[in-house]
Amino acid sequence: MSRVPGLPLPDAQFESLAFWTGGERGELLIHRCGECGLWLHPPKPVCRRCMSRTVAPQPVSGEGTVYSYTVNRQQWMPDVEVPYVLAVVELAEDPGLRLTTRLTGVDPSDVRIGLPVRVVFEQVEEFWIPLFTTNPTTSETEEGSR
Ligand SMILES: [Zn+2]
Repeated sequence: MSRVPGLPLPDAQFESLAFWTGGERGELLIHRCGECGLWLHPPKPVCRRCMSRTVAPQPVSGEGTVYSYTVNRQQWMPDVEVPYVLAVVELAEDPGLRLTTRLTGVDPSDVRIGLPVRVVFEQVEEFWIPLFTTNPTTSETEEGSR
């Protein structure tokens, strides 16, 4: 697949490689402490709570909600279409587990805090960029049921 022109590729370091490549198997991989179970994002080699080094990437459900967002209308890069939504998504696994991402397939005027979303992956060269789109299988009133 060809590279989306104008978009910089992730700077995938050793610890974040799983995050950027798990999408090849349809998995959003987040680091988790093997001792105390704390999810760690961005990935770190040591658990910030118990200092354990038994930290490894594990697949998460890929479901979450919009914690915060902003609509970018400024054409910073000539080949990237505006407007687009930059969002902080809180993953279903843990209320403190959040990642910064871009929403896709969503009208910016429909985005709101608490919107249920799920991960989708956009392949760019060897990376599988985790983006999020609306999740029609859940609603805020049915939280926790699937
Ligand atoms: Zn720990």
